[in-house]
Amino acid sequence: MLSVIIPAYNEEKLIGKTTAVILDILSKARIPCELIFVDDGSKDNTWEQITEAAKAHFQVRGAHFSRNFGKEAAILAGLTESLGECCVVIDCDLQHPPEKIVEMYQLWERGYEIIEGQKSSRGSEGRLHSLAAKAFYSLISAATGFDMANASDFKLLDRKAVDVLINLREQNAFFRALSSWIGFKTTYIQFDVQEREIGQSKWSTAALTKYALSNIASFSTVPMQIVTVLGALMFVVSLILGGIVLVQKILGQALGGFTTVILIQLFSSSIMMISLGIIGYYIAKIYEEIKGRPRYIISETCGSGSSKGTGSKSI
Ligand code: UDP
Ligand code: MG
Repeated sequence: MLSVIIPAYNEEKLIGKTTAVILDILSKARIPCELIFVDDGSKDNTWEQITEAAKAHFQVRGAHFSRNFGKEAAILAGLTESLGECCVVIDCDLQHPPEKIVEMYQLWERGYEIIEGQKSSRGSEGRLHSLAAKAFYSLISAATGFDMANASDFKLLDRKAVDVLINLREQNAFFRALSSWIGFKTTYIQFDVQEREIGQSKWSTAALTKYALSNIASFSTVPMQIVTVLGALMFVVSLILGGIVLVQKILGQALGGFTTVILIQLFSSSIMMISLGIIGYYIAKIYEEIKGRPRYIISETCGSGSSKGTGSKSI
């Protein structure tokens, strides 16, 4: 069986349509499936819609988060709940073309364990948004060591890979990169990002920035090492300036060094503040990890009784 995992946040208008489209495609291709909607603490009627869909179709199940935990948590919850031999993760807004699931499934049958969907075009986006996304992807590619430029969350994972992913104990799991990090026999398929039919993207530029920083920090400690490099640079600069000041003193041309003093003062204190900020950020991350809180809390489940969901889960 194939489990289709669909994170949904404020998607009330799309649940019915997405369910119908995916079930139609998969039944035509004769692929036995289950659909798992994870409602990421939506504020609209998404959960009611999911319950309706579960009543209408025996293949549909749903889990409702007690609040918004973010898409990564929703994906993990879906993977944890899934029962299939393989799982596909797909956006609720049909921006990931569902026809491709069949292609992915066939590749899985041929023995591939991870089939990554890669964006061959990003669809229409605002200029600022696509610039920010571009900057994020080049940073995250450098941090993870994988080419993430065209990576997406649309992918098929074999049960083996799913079990590895759900047992990673990271609080801040970056699904998109972790699926490359875990290895396995991987292949890629290309897809065009479709227009979002209803509603709008849940990512503001601010949210994207926060997401970017957090994921870069979870994959790389380079920013902390920047502190060391900056410190070394400052040391060299102060040696040079110190030399100049000494020579001036010896030649009797001292005084008037006020500007230099102010400049050094400003420069070094700003570098120190940046450094403390970066270190603080990582300490905060360590604190988050060490608390070991559950990554999400499921308050309700619905559908076919086969749900593994029993309230909150710490995985
Ligand atoms: N999503 C979610 N939790 C969030 C934000 C988004 O589960 O906090 C879901 C959303 O319902 C959709 C998918 O993640 O199914 C992608 O979101 P969106 O379309 O807003 O992002 P974009 O396509 O712009 O990357
Ligand atoms: Mg979308």
